[in-house]
Amino acid sequence: MENSENIIQAESIYLDNAATTKPSDTVTKAVSLCMAECYGNPSSLHKLGLQAQSRIDQARKIIANSLGTDPECILFTSGATESNNLAIRGSAGTYGRRKKHIITSAVEHASVRNTINKLEEQGYTITRIFPDQNGHFQAQDFVNAVTDQTFLISMMLTENETGRILPVGSVFRKIKKKYPGIITHCDAVQAYMKIPVKINALQADMLSISSHKIHGVKGVGALYVRKGIRLEPILTGGSQEKSIRPGTESVPLICGFGQAVADMQDSIETRLHNAASNREYLLQLLADMQDISINSDTDPAGESSPYILNFSVKNIRSEIMLHYLESKGIYVSSGSACSKGAKSGVLSAYRIPDRVADCAIRVSFSEHTTERELLALTEAIRKGQESLIHTK
Ligand code: PMP
Repeated sequence: MENSENIIQAESIYLDNAATTKPSDTVTKAVSLCMAECYGNPSSLHKLGLQAQSRIDQARKIIANSLGTDPECILFTSGATESNNLAIRGSAGTYGRRKKHIITSAVEHASVRNTINKLEEQGYTITRIFPDQNGHFQAQDFVNAVTDQTFLISMMLTENETGRILPVGSVFRKIKKKYPGIITHCDAVQAYMKIPVKINALQADMLSISSHKIHGVKGVGALYVRKGIRLEPILTGGSQEKSIRPGTESVPLICGFGQAVADMQDSIETRLHNAASNREYLLQLLADMQDISINSDTDPAGESSPYILNFSVKNIRSEIMLHYLESKGIYVSSGSACSKGAKSGVLSAYRIPDRVADCAIRVSFSEHTTERELLALTEAIRKGQESLIHTK
């Protein structure tokens, strides 16, 4: 194996926290302790099994508490991709047998977008709601799309490429008031532990979250499912996770997920405040530069996550700038990490022209981000503008 020092430079600046976060020391410790001491199968009836089960129950309780809900409603999965698949395909398998219409936004993550596209191929009708000319989603547009065939609405809370916050609570409340039978699902991956996320305020029947976006480990997530909602499992197997998600639970990863939430849940407001001042600082630095356009929403009338800032450097394609910054030890993203640089269509939904979208850089903060790092980022971009413009 390569020495990690060869991979990550000593002075690396990690600004790709929307793609994933570094597991915290407390998480790493909790996971390895669990692996060493708690290796029983949680379904086993002996002491080691019960011990493992109790670790899962503990984590379930912490996560349920953070969402203001009951532990019984939390199902562990392998990550938010699976949570989103289970929510959408699982509800199509039950509520979508008679009714065939789904409402969603035009800016969903690939794990929602492609799952819904697949259902469309199978005969479902999909309405995709676009933002208005100012890049804002209007709650009423979602409500107006309801037909007597609608069984599901799936929309994300914080959009992962530009950080815009969608009016999920307002849409779901309106829909539940008028059409209580429609199932509401929210992909809250980029919002969870970053802005307050409470099930009742959102009126979500289902909500997806992921551990590795909040300093937990990759490979574990959860789906909140309101009591009474019936989902057709997408895996068949044993009776784990109420038989909705069979398979032996990854006790260490679940344990680490619980630890990450326990570490973060009391500091949402403080971290939000710090992220907002980092975003403001970076916006000021970028405003003093040539040939930069901002793709995130900076309009006070819109609502955005302060953890994400997306901008374009004129005439320098995203991957070129990304690798230039990488050579300086600075890690950013060219869009959603999951699309590996492929166009997702999210920026074009906000009417950002292709030539600008092709040059987009996504910077995403954590609580460890400093102004010094942001200054280093903008200085590196400035140097990149001088040296790369001739190679475009
Ligand atoms: N939804 C959103 C908004 C995301 O940003 C991501 C991760 N990029 C996912 C879903 C998928 O999460 P996971 O990596 O846990 O499968």
